[in-house]
Amino acid sequence: MKYLHYDLRDRDLFCGEVPVSRIAEKVGTPVYVYSREIIEKHLTRLMDAFSTVETLICYSVKSLSNLAVCQVLREMGAGFDVVSGGELFRALQAGGHPKKIVFAGVGKSPEEIEFALDRRILMFNVESEAELKVIDLIAAQKNLVADIALRINPDVDPKTHRYITTGKRESKFGIDLVTAKRLAAEMGNRAGVRLVGVHAHIGSQITDVEPHRAALEKVMAFAECCRELGNPVEYINLGGGFGIHYQGYEGLPASDYAEALLPALAGSGYKLIIEPGRFIVGNAGLLLTRVLYVKESGDKRFIIVDAGMNDLIRPSLYSAHHEVWPIDSEFEKGSPEAEAVSTPADVVGPICETGDFFALDRMLPPVKEGALICVFSAGAYGMVMASNYNSRPRPAEVMVSGDYYDVIRSRETWDDLIRGERKIARWD
Ligand SMILES: *Cc1c(COP(=O)(O)O)cnc(C)c1O
Repeated sequence: MKYLHYDLRDRDLFCGEVPVSRIAEKVGTPVYVYSREIIEKHLTRLMDAFSTVETLICYSVKSLSNLAVCQVLREMGAGFDVVSGGELFRALQAGGHPKKIVFAGVGKSPEEIEFALDRRILMFNVESEAELKVIDLIAAQKNLVADIALRINPDVDPKTHRYITTGKRESKFGIDLVTAKRLAAEMGNRAGVRLVGVHAHIGSQITDVEPHRAALEKVMAFAECCRELGNPVEYINLGGGFGIHYQGYEGLPASDYAEALLPALAGSGYKLIIEPGRFIVGNAGLLLTRVLYVKESGDKRFIIVDAGMNDLIRPSLYSAHHEVWPIDSEFEKGSPEAEAVSTPADVVGPICETGDFFALDRMLPPVKEGALICVFSAGAYGMVMASNYNSRPRPAEVMVSGDYYDVIRSRETWDDLIRGERKIARWD
């Protein structure tokens, strides 16, 4: 049975031609497994869907930052959307071309701005008047002109989780339209910046085209206004936020977004930038974890696994739903036989927090200790949010391509946990 791009058969789960049980045996658990083919497929779908308008796809590095993933996307022609100096460093290390890199974020430090200016990135997505002043100052000191886009706050509600809603008036992101218009009018007084784009990113995991369409309308109206004020605006940047499949097939195909957005752009003369993250990598990755213990208490069943919220925090942080399934189960997911033997279970980690869970009251078949459990749709905002909480080494990452796989990040060791720490020599 195909499940979210993976193939469950022969009591195993196949990523490409590789049974993930083999990866678990060789690399250990917990481990993140990514499919190169799926990553490439999603980027290709976006490229094809948006091909009728000049579009630069800037992969959102923060969704899954591994160098190998960035490298694969760069080789296919993607640029990068970065939100810190560290991400810019990564994008460059992966071979990213500076002229395909845009830099967003509400709190860029002077050092980060300087680094980005020196590398001659395509543009800064500016999030406040104060930031604009600093970029202007630093660029002018260097006798440079920084290309910028103003990130406006279009006040559109994407109806997603409030933690990942970014384009409403009360959110910390972007510049309100009144202020943005004044900044655009005054841009001529600033020697160090040039307004070349208008940017909006309204949120993440949006499974409806309408909020994007509404944002585009506001962004284009504002871009016209900027042009009338004498600014050479040529880029419309709509950010990311395209939703994926977590529970079933709720994500929309790339073509739906393109159909909703491209008519307004066609013939406008603007170049389009999009910054997808989750859409490209979310369904391409899974977290493999092994069952340590099964505990029955009263009518509750707890499946205690070796991955925890430090490895994948989305269920705890956003109440996110991830499909989970014991891959060596003799019952096929979704089959009547599986349903007949399934009972509710909590799949929980070893961390000392009640919020440490992957699934609550989920109907699952009997599971034995030592079984492998797969947490699906874990490619985006998984490993990048992993921490060492409870002094747990972060998991390994593996990329599968066809019938082989590569470890693209080794599992951390206990020595890694204390690297950089110092014991105090003596107390005075
Ligand atoms: C996080 C982010 C993205 C990517 O969002 P996805 O939902 O992963 O597509 C794009 N642009 C900006 C500015 C972001 O902060």
